[in-house]
Amino acid sequence: MSDVFPPPPPGEGQGEGATVAELQRLTIRQLAQTLPPREARLEAQLLLAHALKVDRVWLIAHDTDPLTPAQLDACNALIARRLVGEPIAYLLGEREFYGRRFQVTPAVLIPRPETELLVDLALERLPADAPARVLDLGTGSGCLALTLALERPLAQVTAVDASADALAVARENAHHLQVANVALIESDWFAVLEGGAGCNPPGRMNPAPQRRAFDLIVANPPYVAAADPHLAQGDVRFEPLSALAAGADGLDDLRRIIAAAPAHLAPGGGLLLEHGWDQGEAVPALLYAAGFIDVECVPDLAGQPRVSLGRMPE
Ligand code: GLN
Repeated sequence: MSDVFPPPPPGEGQGEGATVAELQRLTIRQLAQTLPPREARLEAQLLLAHALKVDRVWLIAHDTDPLTPAQLDACNALIARRLVGEPIAYLLGEREFYGRRFQVTPAVLIPRPETELLVDLALERLPADAPARVLDLGTGSGCLALTLALERPLAQVTAVDASADALAVARENAHHLQVANVALIESDWFAVLEGGAGCNPPGRMNPAPQRRAFDLIVANPPYVAAADPHLAQGDVRFEPLSALAAGADGLDDLRRIIAAAPAHLAPGGGLLLEHGWDQGEAVPALLYAAGFIDVECVPDLAGQPRVSLGRMPE
């Protein structure tokens, strides 16, 4: 988005005495310089409602209300941040995923609609009427782990992330979504699980390593090539690079996960991985090489290769 923040025309917009409707009109005009009109309108309403701590219906009912200087300042500060390109999800502090609201901060990747495919594929493999042990690697906001835990209350979900700041966000989400069947653990991929302790309830150490513990492992790891120009565009510029970029070909983390996963899967256990549109051959090849069977790559709604999966032999 443009980093120009033009002064308001006289008598309208951000100036003293502006009404809700005037500020909204000006905000739409500014956002529409880089967004389609419909999106500009929606974002303007969301930003104003957020800054004023009201809902969008209030904006309509109060359109002739003059804004106080403090209200104008709050609105203008948020609008200015959006105009320099900060993602709307970070400004509002939330994003919807699989029908639920997840809190997000710049410590976590913003949940993407295409990742809902990973949820659908995982749910197909998790019976609703039986317990299962599920691991989510690099959980970020917790959108995958918490969605699976809520959709499958009998499952015991373990979610790890290497970032303590990300885990704090996931914890917040587990709390407000009232998820009881999840354990959130700080770990660089499988590191903390190597001794098996991560699979136990907190405070109960198991002296015998519990490898091959999981029925299903899911991950939306970083998979963008480090030099991909896409990393310097749009929302992505404000997201944690550690959640996006993975070496020269974007496969560094996928390779590590695929190599280590078999030791953590129960016989017949599945591995489901999100990846880039151009990794639909490389990831299945890595899965075969690691001993997975029934390997397939599933396209997203846009028809792009998006999730590859396989399972361990029985
Ligand atoms: N799909 C994201 C993007 O291209 C990347 C997410 C990821 O690396 N896990 O913006």
